[in-house]
Amino acid sequence: MSDFFARLDNSRQALAAAGCGALIVGPSKDLTYLLGYDALPLERLTLFILTADGAHLVLPELERERAEAFHSDKHAVLHSYTETQNSLALAASLLKDHSAIAVQPHLFSSFTLALQALLPEQRFVDATPVLAPLRLVKTTDEIGLLRAAAHAIDSVHAKVAQWLVPGATEAEVGRKIADAILDTHDTVNFVIVASGPNGASPHHELSNRRLALGDTVVVDIGGSRHGYCSDETRNYVIGTAPAEYQQVYDTVLGAHAAAVAAVHPGATAQSVDAAARKIITDAGYGDYFIHRTGHGIGLDAHEEPWIVHGNYTTLKPGMAFSIEPGIYLPGRFGVRIEDIVAVTADGVEILNTAPLNLITAG
Ligand code: ZN
Ligand code: ZN
Repeated sequence: MSDFFARLDNSRQALAAAGCGALIVGPSKDLTYLLGYDALPLERLTLFILTADGAHLVLPELERERAEAFHSDKHAVLHSYTETQNSLALAASLLKDHSAIAVQPHLFSSFTLALQALLPEQRFVDATPVLAPLRLVKTTDEIGLLRAAAHAIDSVHAKVAQWLVPGATEAEVGRKIADAILDTHDTVNFVIVASGPNGASPHHELSNRRLALGDTVVVDIGGSRHGYCSDETRNYVIGTAPAEYQQVYDTVLGAHAAAVAAVHPGATAQSVDAAARKIITDAGYGDYFIHRTGHGIGLDAHEEPWIVHGNYTTLKPGMAFSIEPGIYLPGRFGVRIEDIVAVTADGVEILNTAPLNLITAG
């Protein structure tokens, strides 16, 4: 039995426990997880429908060949429609016997609202409680894919220092990084090259700012390899870093170490966040650590578990997430150090292997 049949069985059990008769999933990593099919998020309807005794994929006729290529073990019945057929009526006909329908949250609201109009007696509920727990604990194979992706992005970081030279723009460096990611991954998910004061904005991507002596640079990069994501942040300096930088760097490094040390089966997600935050707060930078400590990672670059205050999720072997504390001093610089970790039977494995030190560029 393939993984996909087991995943559909697990989904059916979760669906029944949630009191729903059908699950509907549009193009998303949940669809990839359940079917192995990376559907395009088109204006044309692609909808996977799972019920207690059926699995159906409604899709445009022009996507049928791609879908079949992903779908060699035929674990869903394909229902393709032509450009002039009514895809929503087709989907509604497959859903009409189920009173409660769980909706995967990435399904376009245009489709959800249209289905609600066609099925006014049915109750539509959020499918997150059905789907998220299924992907929360990875199999050994999935952790292996995350480890391989982590090593692939390590190998990109090993090349970055040579490209960070005075006069180059962030965008020029970003293009070289994107090419290097593609050499070792299937897709580029994001490239952040945040130099000097841009480093104080955690999601700054690329700009035409030219690098200069004395800049520190936050480089946060990731891609997907065999479907699984990488995500790693390292910090570089061109020449001599500004005053106070080393103190901030050492604080973030200490927070990273404390968070990693807090990861073990039975700990809560929020306790990992608290461990990192205590180090940064005690050093006087608490107001400048403006995001959670981490996010789960797998088929999606950001997925559960969220490593944040208020998340009481108990860590279990097979969970994988980022540890990425940061300090951001507006107008000056930022520091973020990020690795992906996996919870093991007796503690934690850090999947990235690149050194954590501040890297001298050029
Ligand atoms: Zn990142
Ligand atoms: Zn991240």
